[in-house]
Amino acid sequence: MNFHVLTLFPQMILDGLNTSITGRAIDKGILSVEAVDIRDFSTNKHMKVDDYPYGGGAGMVMQAEPVQAAYEHVAERLSKKPRVIYMTPQGHTFNQQMAHDFAKEEDLVILCGHYEGIDERVLENIVTDYVSIGDYVLTGGELAAMVVIDSVSRLVPGVLNNTESAETESFENGLLEYPQYTRPVEFMGKRVPDVLLSGNHAKVDAWRFEKSLERTKKYRPDLYEEYMQSHSEMHQ
Ligand code: SAM
Repeated sequence: MNFHVLTLFPQMILDGLNTSITGRAIDKGILSVEAVDIRDFSTNKHMKVDDYPYGGGAGMVMQAEPVQAAYEHVAERLSKKPRVIYMTPQGHTFNQQMAHDFAKEEDLVILCGHYEGIDERVLENIVTDYVSIGDYVLTGGELAAMVVIDSVSRLVPGVLNNTESAETESFENGLLEYPQYTRPVEFMGKRVPDVLLSGNHAKVDAWRFEKSLERTKKYRPDLYEEYMQSHSEMHQ
């Protein structure tokens, strides 16, 4: 899968993704991350990419022309019109279902704003999906883009190895994951629950499911309600 990030801070994207699991997948050629510097497409002699907002008000706005040109530089090399995600606090809140949906794409263009945002006209031209990572405001879209890229990448076949399987993670079945333990058996007077040492897989699964329900009810009552409702409907 190929990510093409349109940004004013390409190094931030490359530094953030070239390590750990995404870095390994990039080295193996399963993923590619191209960070396109929007500033390279400025036609201004000082390489400026922002200007004052029409109508007044605080801050600067990223201009439409360099963003459009950066997009075209990517799109003209692709075989079909790509999906373009604009990272914005005004978008749909990102979730695991959206990650699965984006992971089906061969190419994904991700546009990062800065300052007060981007001239609306270029957004209307190129953006297919408006995505937020939560109800708070960041200084730029780069961290948000990395959140999306990281979570989508884990769903691309071959990125995780067997021991890092994504299937039992939180949200995959609508619940939070059960608690995890590793050696030693006893830590500061706390023992690993006996059932996990029993070797009885059916009992382990039943315990994990019960704990999943318990912590979803406690930490995410909204998800718990949804889960219980959909499962009671299934059994009607
Ligand atoms: N003026 C904009 C508004 O009020 O909606 C906020 C602009 S913000 C300071 C600058 C850039 O950061 C945005 O263009 C967007 O790309 C990114 N950004 C900020 N918060 C975000 C969030 N919660 N999710 C995704 N991107 C975000």
